[in-house]
Amino acid sequence: MARRKIVAGNWKMNKTPSEAVALAEELKPLVASDDVDVVFCVPAIDIIPVAEAVKGTNIAVGAENMYFEEKGAYTGEISPAMLVDAGVKYVVLGHSERREYFAETNETVNKKVLKAFEHGITPIMCCGESLEQREQGVTMDFIRQQVKVGLQNVTAEQAKTMVIAYEPIWAIGTGKTATTEQAQEVCAGIRACIAEVYDDATAEAIRIQYGGSVNAATAPELFAQADIDGGLVGGAALKPDFGKIVNYK
Ligand code: PEP
Repeated sequence: MARRKIVAGNWKMNKTPSEAVALAEELKPLVASDDVDVVFCVPAIDIIPVAEAVKGTNIAVGAENMYFEEKGAYTGEISPAMLVDAGVKYVVLGHSERREYFAETNETVNKKVLKAFEHGITPIMCCGESLEQREQGVTMDFIRQQVKVGLQNVTAEQAKTMVIAYEPIWAIGTGKTATTEQAQEVCAGIRACIAEVYDDATAEAIRIQYGGSVNAATAPELFAQADIDGGLVGGAALKPDFGKIVNYK
């Protein structure tokens, strides 16, 4: 069965609650689609107003992070139950910015992935190599490790429903998109890794996005690749261009 495409915007640390509602209202008509799953991953404080603004549309709301404990003395953190109650369906986990600035590791990402599943939130688990790793020829070894550890104790049934975002770090926010061939090659490698860890059926079902300076011009070719099931979009998710990316065909 053909996998349904999924295009998610990662708003990062942008937009106050009132600005976020204005952006959601602006994008709403532009991202209408019967063919593509559309997600707005927004800052925690924007989740409730944006969820309200997109009620009754095809847009799902996602979080950009989540803690792996249920509740308690974890000042500043947000629990999965809080996200669910606020209307969140997806959560971005292990984004390279969280790995770099907030000490996320493959192990903490794995704890968060498991916890998200416990609460019925779909993880968008990020992976991707640095420029140095690409130049050293260790891209696939590095990503396979991120994926394998990130998925520890995740069942095949769970894995089939999740999303993996391949985001080469050197392409994030730099305006430098990976070539279509580079993106397809790694996404195919991730799918092969899933087949090894689980089985072919799981590898066929799991959705793998490409992320890294995707824009309206590059999306059509990227999303047409056999192993690329949509995109995780940063900068362009804050502009009307996001509508063109969703409706890339
Ligand atoms: C991202 O942060 O997930 C991302 C892909 O950003 P950008 O599209 O701006 O490179």
